[in-house]
Amino acid sequence: MPWVPRGLRDGIITTRYPGRPDSYGGDFRAAIDVIANPVSTNGRATHDLDIERMCPTGAITVEAGDLRVDRGRCIVCGRCVAERPELFAFNPDIEVAALERATLVVPTRDCDVDDGTLEQARADLAARVRALRRSVHIRHVDAGSDGGEEWEIAALTNPVYDVQRLGVFFTASPRHADLLLVTGAGTVGMAGPLRRTWEAMPAPKIVIAAGSDAITGGLIHPSYPTGGGVGGLLPVDVWVPGSPPSPLSLLHAILVGVGLLAPRGSP
Ligand code: SF4
Repeated sequence: MPWVPRGLRDGIITTRYPGRPDSYGGDFRAAIDVIANPVSTNGRATHDLDIERMCPTGAITVEAGDLRVDRGRCIVCGRCVAERPELFAFNPDIEVAALERATLVVPTRDCDVDDGTLEQARADLAARVRALRRSVHIRHVDAGSDGGEEWEIAALTNPVYDVQRLGVFFTASPRHADLLLVTGAGTVGMAGPLRRTWEAMPAPKIVIAAGSDAITGGLIHPSYPTGGGVGGLLPVDVWVPGSPPSPLSLLHAILVGVGLLAPRGSP
C-alpha cells in the first residue's frame, strides 16, 4: 500500500483557502494590472495606437494618455507585460471576481460605477443567498467554451481544492441547483438550452459568468456564432475574469456568489 508512506510524507495537501492564502496563489495569471500611464514613463514617446493594437482582444484602451485594461476582454496572454513591462504587470491576487461588469475595467474610476448601484447589487445578492450559506449545489453549463474553464472547474473537486469541504457540490440537474456556473462565449446554439436551464432552477438562484469568453465572447467576438458573452442571455450576478480563471479564482467567485466572501475592490 504505497499510499500510506506517501500520505505520511506529503501530509495534508488540501488548500486552506479561504481560511488562509496559499503560497502558490500568486503563481496564477489571474488578471492584468496597469502600473503606469504612457505619458509618465521616462519621457518616452508613446503612440497610443501601438499600445492598443498590441492586444489581440481589444482589452487595452488609451484615451488622452489614460491607459486602461478591460479584464472582461483580456485573455491574460501576457503580451502586454512582455512588450511593455513598464506599463503592465500580472496581478498577484486571485480574488478578481466582481459584482458589477463595469468594475472589471482597471484602474476603476469612481464615475464607472454608481455606489448606489453597487450597494443595491450587494443587498440584492445578500437577500437571495441567505438560505444558501451552509450548502450550495452548482449546475455548470458550457455555452461554447474552448474547454479551458472546464479543466479548472474539474480541478475544484480534486484533493487539492476539495470544494466539498466547504459544502459546495456539483449537480447534474438544474432542478437541484442553486448556482449556475456558465462558461463559454454564449453561442447562438446554446442560448436556448442555457435559458431553459436557468428557468428550471428554483429560486433563489445565482449566476456566475466564468472566464473572459463568458463575459465578452473573448477572442471570437464579434463573430456570427456569439452575441458576445452570456450577459445578454442571463442576469449575471458575479463576473470572474481570466482565460481560464484558476480554481482559486473560481472558488472565490463561488463564495462571493453565496455571500461568504467580498467581491474585488470591497472595503
Ligand atoms: S494580457 Fe493579452 S489580452 Fe490581456 S490586455 Fe495584455 S495583450 Fe491584451
